[in-house]
Amino acid sequence: MTSLELFDTHAHLHFPDFAGDLPAVMARARAAGVSRMLTVGTDPETSRAAIEIAERESDVWATVGIHPHDAEAADDAALAEIERLAAAPRVVAVGEIGLDFFRDLSPRPAQERALRSQLDLARRVGKPVVLHCRDAHDVMLPILAEHGVADLGGVMHCFSGDVDIARRCLELGLVVSLAGPVTYPKARALPDVARFVPVDRLVIETDCPYLPPQRFRGQRNEPAHIAITAARVAELRGETLDGLAAGLTATARALFRVP
Ligand SMILES: [Zn+2]
Ligand SMILES: [Zn+2]
Repeated sequence: MTSLELFDTHAHLHFPDFAGDLPAVMARARAAGVSRMLTVGTDPETSRAAIEIAERESDVWATVGIHPHDAEAADDAALAEIERLAAAPRVVAVGEIGLDFFRDLSPRPAQERALRSQLDLARRVGKPVVLHCRDAHDVMLPILAEHGVADLGGVMHCFSGDVDIARRCLELGLVVSLAGPVTYPKARALPDVARFVPVDRLVIETDCPYLPPQRFRGQRNEPAHIAITAARVAELRGETLDGLAAGLTATARALFRVP
């Protein structure tokens, strides 16, 4: 077990949910074999908070971006601030950015504008993108193609589609990320996706404090629980946990250029 090396590619460690006990959360993650974590910004303020943690913790890196839920606030000043923050050395990607037509918390035209602006921004700063997509693949995938996401590099975080959508993501040069829902009894197409995507295009994440794996549903999620998701994906693929974890971590390190 000690050889286990896991990379939680999508956490929100800087969210208030962890303000009371982050050192204990981090200690449990490290004890569970989580050697690298990415903490993901969702607006200028949380992006600054993400960078603060990444500057303090040697095994945490940050991303900066404006989430589709906050797209209406993505004015020129907010985007300029994200671009300024994106230059920080501990920032390894732009995100999370994307479209969410499930919750529709920002008007769809504003979501699309914010996504396009931040794809251009990612190109200017030369960093890959962390993508959020709910019920919007048919609109979002052509936008990603148009903006040349293949040469930016990027990950479809908390993948929620089927094998056909996964195939289209791979064709765009994207990496697919599986989160806690792959462990649910009603995991829909996710077990098939877990078997379909080659390991050099697959990563895992917690998206904590959200989406705990089955055993912890209803509770706050945390990076240590990534081990449960990893074990489920290994089981689905008929691979050993250590071997799969090494492959997934290598994929994540290559995408985010993390040592
Ligand atoms: Zn998301
Ligand atoms: Zn997230």
